[in-house]
Amino acid sequence: MHEIDQWDSTAALLVATAAPVGREAAWVQAMTFIDAGHFDDAHLVASVLVIDSDGLVLLARHRRYGQWGPIGGHVEPRDASLSAAAARELLEEATLVARIHPSPIDVLLSSFQCRTSTEPVLHLDVIFAAFVSGSAPALVNSDELTGLEWFATGDLPVPLLPVTTELVGLATAAANSQG
Ligand SMILES: [Zn+2]
Repeated sequence: MHEIDQWDSTAALLVATAAPVGREAAWVQAMTFIDAGHFDDAHLVASVLVIDSDGLVLLARHRRYGQWGPIGGHVEPRDASLSAAAARELLEEATLVARIHPSPIDVLLSSFQCRTSTEPVLHLDVIFAAFVSGSAPALVNSDELTGLEWFATGDLPVPLLPVTTELVGLATAAANSQG
């Protein structure tokens, strides 16, 4: 898959998925950005929040920020889709296999300096919910993470990456709608 195809498929995925209540502005911002064709200036990221059958959420503490949030990383050319990229990141960084819902739960556009850049770069982060049954072990398997734990959604750790509380709510709602 070529880079342009990834952005095209990202646009198609966002069009096909209704923006969650309260997050419409973020989706409009993302779609406007994609329509403007700024692919050379931006990095595409896939992230995932995993919910287990007890309703606990898996969060990672990121070394770079010292904050807890979803697991994720840059989409790579070999990823067949954004959700496949999210599954790969989950396996690589947490040695965890989960059922990833194909529709994203949210999208974030933000500028920050990542490990592949020397100055702030716009990142479009497409966030998925994933589900596991039972209490799945998750092991830190990445230099980029300093912690990986399951939390009750009403007792999240601090400090959190921006919007993480909202994302946990959206992932929990997606898990509940799975039945
Ligand atoms: Zn980047």
